[in-house]
This record gives sequence, structure tokens and C-alpha cells, in this order.
Amino acid sequence: MNLTSRILIGMGAGLLVGALIQALGLPEDHFFSSFFTFGLIDAGGDIFITLLRMMVVPLVLVSLTCGAASLGATGKVGRLGGKSIGLYLLTTAIAVSLALTMGLIVEPGVSASDKGLEVVTYAAKEAPPFKDTLVNIFPSNPVAAMANGAMLQVIVFAVLLGIAISKAGEAGQRIRSVFDDLNEIFMQLITMILHIAPIGVFCLMVSLGATVGLSDIAKLITYFLTVAATLVLHMTVVYPLLLRFLAGLNPLTYLRKMREPILVAFSTASSGATLPVTLRTVEHRVGVSNNVASFAVPLGATINMDGTAIMQGVATVFIAQFFGVSLGPQELLVVVLTATMASVGTAAVPGVGLIMLAMVLDQVGLPVEGIGLIIGVDRLLDMMRTAVNVTGDGMVATTVAKSEGELDLEVFHEPDAGRVIAS
Ligand code: ASP
Repeated sequence: MNLTSRILIGMGAGLLVGALIQALGLPEDHFFSSFFTFGLIDAGGDIFITLLRMMVVPLVLVSLTCGAASLGATGKVGRLGGKSIGLYLLTTAIAVSLALTMGLIVEPGVSASDKGLEVVTYAAKEAPPFKDTLVNIFPSNPVAAMANGAMLQVIVFAVLLGIAISKAGEAGQRIRSVFDDLNEIFMQLITMILHIAPIGVFCLMVSLGATVGLSDIAKLITYFLTVAATLVLHMTVVYPLLLRFLAGLNPLTYLRKMREPILVAFSTASSGATLPVTLRTVEHRVGVSNNVASFAVPLGATINMDGTAIMQGVATVFIAQFFGVSLGPQELLVVVLTATMASVGTAAVPGVGLIMLAMVLDQVGLPVEGIGLIIGVDRLLDMMRTAVNVTGDGMVATTVAKSEGELDLEVFHEPDAGRVIAS
């Protein structure tokens, strides 16, 4: 049985066990809950996520240094960066626009107050000033950047290090072969971690099934379904169209190959934790060269959040409708711009999209407390939008690679290429 099927079985079984536990209705301090549900099972899920996270910094550093070293000072780094960032921003802007359109058509907030929905107090965190965001891209201490997992800083350091290696003659050659070897070894380590993915996913799904509040979802069902439908639309219509027209590739082949990162993203709700899996898949299963993948994928995991932007678009419309505020064309444009920017600033960990929503609401003068309305259903939506975020990262990496002649079409068309477990 291949890895995707194993993960799917882990997922289904986990949800079932979780739902049974919820149906039992045991109190949290019951021995079974504290030992099994919130003990062993929670630990299993945490260990899986921690192992994935363990790989992020070493992998990005080594893989990107290799990529930048082989591109060297050809000027290609700048072009790749420009293309990737341009496409990331474009897909996010399309995502928010789609979300706003859906929100305005479905009007999820209009009848929400009749369903007994109340504003919960929500203390918004302040978004950092723009200047700090810009300066903070550059690491004053690369070791600290790595220790803190400051991804953009690690990316900048790795690109500079790679370029320097390419210019350093023989010394550069020697170090480069060490980095190339390390890259191989780290990829192998991710393959090892992926073998336990079905168990990790099982544990994460038990926790979800045991704790998810269905009554919260019922109260917000229109909002929930609007976000979910827009996410599905973006993943199954927008990405395929872009892949077909910008890269001339078969979108189904791409989506089929991306199943594992999509499932891991869904289970962990963190595109950061999923990054090692995305990178491995994009390189070895989809066929994007290390040069492009090592650059575009970590950058995407950090700045590209189409799914998050979709949630923010629908949420803004929902909150405006709930409070009876109408959004004119100018406000809608502001939402598109700020949600796109917020997506750049959103950390790739669970729940941050909701924090950044405060920035969007602020810009159009909507009450930030509105976030309290939708917090109850955010967990499940977070999982879904993270799956979209990760699919978008891979899509842009693949499109950029195709345009640069850096996509191995043989790998792309070979169904078994780079499989963790052969089918
Ligand atoms: N969980 C999302 C991610 O990691 C971010 C968010 O929307 O909260 O991609």
C-alpha cells in the first residue's frame, strides 16, 4: 500500500476514534482522557510535528545554499526571486478577490445574528510596523535566526552564502560538495520521518475528533461552508487553470503528486512544519530542480498563504455584514491589498491567519472584536486553508521551474517517481 493510502487510513481511523471518544463524553480529568486522549495521543501528534519542524531549518539552509551556489552569480537568483514573488502575490490577490466575491454573493453574515451568535471578547495583537518587517528580513546573527526559526532571515543568509560559495573558486567547490552530500542525507531523513506519517496523522486526527465543537460549526455553518467552498474552488479551478495556461502542464498530475504534503498540511495546520515534505515532493515527485525548489518552496511557505487570504476575505465580509456595515469598492480594494500583505507577514504556524485578520479589519474600520465571532470554527478551517497554502507553494515553484527550463518532465510524468513507499 502506498504512503497516501496509509495516511488516509490513519486519518479516517483517527477521526473515528476521536468521534467515539467525544461521544463517550468523559470529563477531562478522567483517567482515560488524561492518560490516553490528552496524554499518549497528544504526545504522538506533537512528536510527529516536532520531527518535521526539526528538519525545517537544516533543510532550508543546506538545500538553498546548494541551489544558490549552482545558480551562482548568473543573475538568475534575482530573476527567480522576482518571478516567484510576483506569482505568489498574484495568486494571493486572486484568492482574496474570489473570497470577497463569494462572501458578497452568499452573504454569510446577514443572518448570523439570528443564530444566537454573540461577540466574544477578543484582544487583538498589534501588527509590527512596516519598517521593522522590512529590516527584519536581514539577519544580524544568522545563528540566532536559525535558532529562532526566522525563515526569511535564514533564506537571505543561505542565498548569500550560496552565491559566495559559487564565487570562491576551489574552496567554494570543496564546501559545495559537502553541502550537496548533506542535502542528500537530509532528504533521506525526511523520507524516514514520512514513514511514520500515518501514525502521526492518526494521533492528530484523534485529538481533532475528540475536541472539535460541532455546535460551534452549526452556528456558523454558512460562514464555514463559504470559506470551505472558496478554498476548494481555488484549489480545483484557479490553480489548475494557472498551471495549464502559465506552464502548459496537466494539473491533475500535479495535484495527484502533491497528495502527501496536502494531507500532512491538513493534519498539522502548519505550512512551516509541512515544508520538508513539500520540498521533498516538489523536487523528487514533481520534478522541479533543486535550484528552483530550494528557493521557491521555503519562500512560499513563508510569504504565500492563499488559503489564509481566502479565510480573511470571507471573514471580513462576514464581520461587516454581521455589524451591518457595507463595504464599497474602495474598501474592497483595501481588503485585497492588506490581505495580500497580511499573507506575507503571516507565520506558517496554526492560527496565525486569524491574528493577522486584525490588520485587515483595522484598515477598513471594522471592529476587531469581530474575530471573536469566528474563532470557534477556525481550527478546522485552519487545517483546510493550510492544505491550500501548501498546494499554492508547489504550484508556483512548478510554474517558475517550467518557465526556466528547470522542470524534469520525465519525473513529472512518471507516477512512481520519488515515492516514499512504492505502490
Ligand atoms: N496555519 C496556516 C499555515 O501554516 C497559517 C494560518 O492561516 O493561520 O499555513
